[in-house]
Amino acid sequence: MRIILIAIAMALVAASCSGKSGGAESGKIEVVASVAPITDIVKNVAGDAADVQGLIPEGVDSHTFEPTADTARLIADADVIFLNGLDLEDPTLALARSDKKDGAEIFLLGEHTVQPDGYLYDFSFPRSAGHPNPHLWMDVAYAIHYTELVRDELSRIDPGNAATYRANADAYLTTLRTLNDAVQKAVDTIPPQDRLLLTYHDSFAYFAHHYGMRVIGAIQPADFSEPSAQEVAALIDQIRTEHVPAIFGSEVFPSPVLAQIAQESGAKYEDTLRDDDLPGDTGQPEHSYVGLMLYDVRTIVTDLGGDASALDAVPTSNPYD
Ligand SMILES: [Zn+2]
Repeated sequence: MRIILIAIAMALVAASCSGKSGGAESGKIEVVASVAPITDIVKNVAGDAADVQGLIPEGVDSHTFEPTADTARLIADADVIFLNGLDLEDPTLALARSDKKDGAEIFLLGEHTVQPDGYLYDFSFPRSAGHPNPHLWMDVAYAIHYTELVRDELSRIDPGNAATYRANADAYLTTLRTLNDAVQKAVDTIPPQDRLLLTYHDSFAYFAHHYGMRVIGAIQPADFSEPSAQEVAALIDQIRTEHVPAIFGSEVFPSPVLAQIAQESGAKYEDTLRDDDLPGDTGQPEHSYVGLMLYDVRTIVTDLGGDASALDAVPTSNPYD
């Protein structure tokens, strides 16, 4: 423990000497955000005016993430903490409430975007368990609202940079509106009877509701374990009955069950969708929220027999990289 504390202290000294950290050194506010798509949205609004860091490392299951010493250090330094809420990051939220510095704000983007009557409960997030499906950002209209909330919150906390936040948000909102229109156009090219989503991880509830698809099931049970043999058999029956052309797995949750279901049902399977792990590497244009949506929608639309070319009109470059 002592060695860890010394190491953390040395890291902090190194960081403050490098001039790259924010706070008092740079005069910039310190901002943290939870999952990578939300961190990316915040970075697009903040630009160079604030220091933004992600709390939940990419490739980690955000639903079961337990805060680490790094999370604690980032939270303790932050002026504002953006989380999704809707029970997505409960352990991180608890840590933020206990460890944030005096005057720091915790802002739950999901709770400020939909009211309880707009929450969706479904396969892996049943109403009986009491946790709504938290994946609002997979609906671009909600990501647009997140962007507006981030702009307003950063401007309130750091009014000296309000004009910068507004200009950055305006540019990003233009891209998001183009994305939103393109997603709808692309989904509309899927034959109507094939606008069906059966995914491993249940992250498309709000997406499907907005763009006119039907989520017919999710393979991952509510406790994030693997489905039982009976549940697998029922899913295979359902895929055959509904003539589902393709089923979709998630990058973060490799599952042999998905392959088995695909093989026995005759559906094509694709196991690279993502909802919190950005495609590509840091610095690449597709390593962004917009890149994530383009990747998923292109994959879904193409595998279900549609034409994804409307998405080609969406720019992916990230101004802060
Ligand atoms: Zn998820």
